Amino acid sequence: MDQGKLFVFSGPSGTGKGTICRELLKEPGTWLSVSITTRAPRAGEEHGVHYYFVTREEYDRTVEEDGFLEHAEIYGNAYGTPKKYAMEHMAAGDDVILEIEMQGALQIKKAYPEAILIFVLPPSLKELRDRIRKRGTETEEQIATRMKTTLSEIELLPEYDYFLINDDLEEAIATARSIMKAEHCKTAGSAQTLIDRYKEEQ
Ligand code: 5GP
Repeated sequence: MDQGKLFVFSGPSGTGKGTICRELLKEPGTWLSVSITTRAPRAGEEHGVHYYFVTREEYDRTVEEDGFLEHAEIYGNAYGTPKKYAMEHMAAGDDVILEIEMQGALQIKKAYPEAILIFVLPPSLKELRDRIRKRGTETEEQIATRMKTTLSEIELLPEYDYFLINDDLEEAIATARSIMKAEHCKTAGSAQTLIDRYKEEQ
């Protein structure tokens, strides 16, 4: 069986990457990795569904045991992608989706150059600002700081393989699906298997 591929989605918060990733899961043979975090669960978040919520000791132990594909500290909390499940799913032929921030995505690219990095962009900073304002969870000062962070994150775009502008959600999902499909049609890694298949038929 062919090995599945590793698709990494990141982008500034508020761009809707979570919604896009959840939609992509509807495709059979697609699996979304559940991360480990030391942050406390938010209302409605479930252990094993949104995250595995662990203590700092458990997290540190996983780092020592080399149990993460990547891991990063974000705003005082630690996050990591468990290696075992992602590897098992890829070996079973599933496409594995990670929704992680940029430090982690760049670690993945270094360790697994064959991973496909996709950056989800907002249509504009103005639109992103409006979306966050509507949510009403942050002060104007916090929003201004967040816009600066967003800009520095967008500067990492050249490190990514693809970008996706989430202007219209349906279109963004369709584009993400096209990217995944196109990656499966690359000759790199598949050419010899295909040649052999045709030769066997002769
Ligand atoms: P939140 O705490 O809001 O759920 O997530 C904060 C940030 O951490 C988001 O950008 C999210 O994509 C990212 N994140 C979630 N899980 C992981 C992970 O396993 N590794 C890394 N590097 N980032 C993660």
